[in-house]
Amino acid sequence: MDLISIQEAVKIIQQNIPPIQTDALTLELTSGLVVAQDVLAREASPLFTNSAMDGFAVKWSDVSKTGEKMSVTLHIIGESIAGLPFRQHVETGQAVQINTGAVLPDGTDTVIPVEHTVQNNDRVVITRITRKGQFIRPAGAEFESGAVLCKTGTILTPGCLGLLASQGILSIKVILPPRVSLVVTGSELIPHDLKPEPGQIRDANTIMLSSMIHASNAKNVFHTRTDDNINAVRQGINKAADVSDLVIVSGGVSMGPHDLVKPAAQDAGFKKLFWGVRQKPGKPLYVAKKDNTLLFGLPGNMVSALNSFAFYIHPILRQMAGKTFEHKKVKAVLSKSFTNEENRTVYLRVQLLTQNNKTVARPFAKQDSHMLTSIDQAHGFILVEPGQTIVQNNKVTVTLYPWDL
Ligand code: AMP
Ligand code: MG
Repeated sequence: MDLISIQEAVKIIQQNIPPIQTDALTLELTSGLVVAQDVLAREASPLFTNSAMDGFAVKWSDVSKTGEKMSVTLHIIGESIAGLPFRQHVETGQAVQINTGAVLPDGTDTVIPVEHTVQNNDRVVITRITRKGQFIRPAGAEFESGAVLCKTGTILTPGCLGLLASQGILSIKVILPPRVSLVVTGSELIPHDLKPEPGQIRDANTIMLSSMIHASNAKNVFHTRTDDNINAVRQGINKAADVSDLVIVSGGVSMGPHDLVKPAAQDAGFKKLFWGVRQKPGKPLYVAKKDNTLLFGLPGNMVSALNSFAFYIHPILRQMAGKTFEHKKVKAVLSKSFTNEENRTVYLRVQLLTQNNKTVARPFAKQDSHMLTSIDQAHGFILVEPGQTIVQNNKVTVTLYPWDL
């Protein structure tokens, strides 16, 4: 196994990201996706001039003299209700009761809020005004038809979706969520709802990696579990590759005689991009490609699998969805010295705590790659190079895991 550096691995992966796929989807399916084509307004907003308050629609010329010493009395001739406009023309001396959002009646140009009036049967006394056109929402004041509502490359936020629905836009062209499948290998694995016979273990990676796929906003299109049998692994990979942009295989990438993912992937037509990274955990990480489909062979140890997903796969799933991604980093004070005695870069998993107004990074005491407790509650990791010592109370850079971002 010729090990490459973490940086080289990232570079090779970045050069081989599967291409973005786009399609028109109905609005209901697009929350959080990225717009692939500018969306233009079909109609002006507001579509019609309406009231911003509950009150009375009046003519400015009738009420303009209202002041501290003088009030104006108008004759109420009807009501404009939201969804039920008042249809007649309003003449001098008349007013129409109106609700928020109701059409401003023909002949009126100003709304008096109810709190600036006194009503007496079909008469209303206007006690206060400020300006002509007050409390109306003119048609087209927000935007005209043809305005760009959602630009290519922007994320469909809840607000965007509301805007598009208000325009009667039913479907839009978006970047599709990447299609990801999971092939979990290991003859020792049993479903997690069963009791292990001697030597068997419950499969934790299926649910863990599915959850990561979900957290990366990708679509888990297929998953299967196979024994360490080359035909079974190849079949699993083939089925997965047929329907996916990204195939994630768990286990079977180390040096043992039952580690069959590499030959199985090769039989399925995948070409190796690299195998082996100078890192701990996750040394035997295997990455291969077939046409536009990328395959990640993750080591089966739970920490290795999860850490490799978070560090290498999560970013590219974001990119394949048309979003940007950069690992977030924070500075923290180290609670305990650590020396990396390995010849590989170590991801030292830490929890971040606030103590005396300082952010403190506390490494987990047990860091072995089968100890899931060293990562499930970790906020991030410190990359420690071979031979490097990081010293207690010194500042360190912690790269945050993406699960609570
Ligand atoms: P492998 O990478 O296949 O050599 O597996 C390395 C270690 O991870 C072994 O101890 C496996 O039993 C364990 N392992 C592999 N797959 C899983 C899984 N899906 N869930 C939990 N542990 C696993
Ligand atoms: Mg195995």
